[in-house]
Amino acid sequence: MDYPNRFDVIVIGGGHAGTEAALAAARMGVDTLLLTHNVETLGQMSCNPAIGGIGKSHLVKEIDALGGAMALATDRAGIQFRVLNSRKGPAVRATRAQADRVLYKAAIREMLENQPNLSIFQQAVSDLIVEDGKVRGAVTQAGIRFHGETVVLCTGTFLGGVIHIGLENHSGGRAGDPSASALAARLRELPFNVARLKTGTPPRIDARSVDFSRMQVQPGDTPTPVMSYIGTSAMQPRQVDCFIAHTNERTHEIIRANLDRSPMYSGVIEGIGPRYCPSIEDKIHRFADKQSHQVFIEPEGLTTHELYPNGISTSLPFDVQLSLVRSIEGLERAHITRPGYAIEYDFFDPRDLHHSLETRFVENLFFAGQINGTTGYEEAGAQGLLAGLNAARRAQGRECWYPRRDEAYIGVMVDDLIRLGTQEPYRMFTSRAEYRLLLREDNADLRLTEKGRELGLVDDARYRAFEAKRESIGREQAWLASTWIHPRTEEAERLAAKLGELTREQRLLDLLKRPELEYQDIAGLKRGDAPVAYAAVAEQVQIQAKYQGYIDRQQEEIDKLKRHEQTLLPMDLDYARIDGLSSEIRQKLDRARPRTLAEAARISGVTPAAVSLLLIQLKKRE
Ligand code: FAD
Repeated sequence: MDYPNRFDVIVIGGGHAGTEAALAAARMGVDTLLLTHNVETLGQMSCNPAIGGIGKSHLVKEIDALGGAMALATDRAGIQFRVLNSRKGPAVRATRAQADRVLYKAAIREMLENQPNLSIFQQAVSDLIVEDGKVRGAVTQAGIRFHGETVVLCTGTFLGGVIHIGLENHSGGRAGDPSASALAARLRELPFNVARLKTGTPPRIDARSVDFSRMQVQPGDTPTPVMSYIGTSAMQPRQVDCFIAHTNERTHEIIRANLDRSPMYSGVIEGIGPRYCPSIEDKIHRFADKQSHQVFIEPEGLTTHELYPNGISTSLPFDVQLSLVRSIEGLERAHITRPGYAIEYDFFDPRDLHHSLETRFVENLFFAGQINGTTGYEEAGAQGLLAGLNAARRAQGRECWYPRRDEAYIGVMVDDLIRLGTQEPYRMFTSRAEYRLLLREDNADLRLTEKGRELGLVDDARYRAFEAKRESIGREQAWLASTWIHPRTEEAERLAAKLGELTREQRLLDLLKRPELEYQDIAGLKRGDAPVAYAAVAEQVQIQAKYQGYIDRQQEEIDKLKRHEQTLLPMDLDYARIDGLSSEIRQKLDRARPRTLAEAARISGVTPAAVSLLLIQLKKRE
């Protein structure tokens, strides 16, 4: 049958990409339908219930800045929060939260169910309606035809999913869920380039069978960090500890002795796995000289005994899993509640997408999440938001929007995927962002919320909170810039222990730039009745003051590249002689012979760093 209502945006798949896509489209005021296998698994975390981490929290905070759900859901579900790299510079600092998976799902579901303009329908989608190269809707397993202006496909690891435990395998989208085989077969008929990837998960362990006294405790940070800029620690549930255990020589021997029973090493699995999140058998094989690997023992929630042993993802047979787990100190009597497994699935070459995440081959069809070759909830959520936003804009007859590489990690990820494609599951790192000093997690709201508001993604409450924060930052900076400290005064004496004697009068803003001083050291000086800035404002004021020089330089670099986009590249330029270019980039430039720097930048694989090198070369020739 044909469903009587027609939708502007139909999102298929209620994982991390699909939920952000559906919420974004609905926030923009268009009629949105979320079609998913099972309403009970909306927002389900297939692997570790943890959000954020290095490079990834930048994405979560950008989703938040654009009005998305992931950060707030994390604040409502997080049972341990930590800031990673806290002693390093602000560009690489990252927030990571261990979440209670039940609370996380509940938070996402509540947001979905209370979102105006959004309807949810539970059923597997088995076909897409495509006419004259344009998508027109989707058909479910029971033959219900939903018609829509645009479709966003967010089916994760489910397309042609095959689960492997040892040499046994069966079809599945993840443990306990069916794979999407009819849809996968249908998509293979369309002109997309399909390949296989794989990922894996460790066995889960019953906490009651673990001796924590033989492990190292890893508490969360206090005060507890928050993920959303409108989140508060009052929203967060009870906080708990994680633990650290270690593999040992015996663990490694067990794995080595059984590699022939591994689907990865016996050639059963063809898909490539995530290089930066390898299985334990992969680690033992690749880093043969390492005698021990860390295993983070992380709780799965407040109302379960299940633990996630982060670091021993495996697809070895169950008997080997049990032996390897029990060889680890503290886990000698461990009971495994669920075996670990690997999953192979179809993904589509992201070079077949536009930056808006619309496919090049089928108009109005968007792809987001693991289907594009990425791994991780954060990568999926960020793409989902972008695809949902653009599907809605398309339905409204508007131009698509996407952030540039110098505006957001989302821009970096999408640009990487579209220009370079990926041979292995793509995950975000701070090193992928050449302008990482500008794209910090702490300023995601300042970078993107104004834009999100303009796009219709940011609601009044969030925008008011943002405006209040932005105004406080401005006020505080103005106060620091106009308040002077004079030598031989009481205030100067209070600073003397850290700074020595002041020799001349100085503005507080300049003092804050000094490495010896923190915002807290000067915040109370000459304050009068003015209140001291709250933590997020203080952090921002301090970072902007201390890194101003570097930030300005990076901004100049961006402006310079923008100014030179139309600069002509001489036809006789010898790319082979330009230092610093990789041989791959040299070959590509040599073959394409771009006329301008902008044309060079658009060649797949030519990085912004390479464009800078070209610019330097042109200057040398002048
Ligand atoms: P998913 O979260 O997979 O959601 C897909 C959704 O689409 C599901 O709700 C599904 O029911 C629905 N769906 C699929 N097909 C259909 C259909 N035909 N009709 C209707 N609904 C459909 N990430 C990491 O960062 N690190 C890891 O170590 C890691 N390990 C993983 C291990 C395993 C075993 C798995 C399965 C995933 C792992 N991931 C890991 C990846 C992480 O789970 C994904 O990156 C993330 O969930 C992707 O989000 P998504 O929205 O693209 O897809």
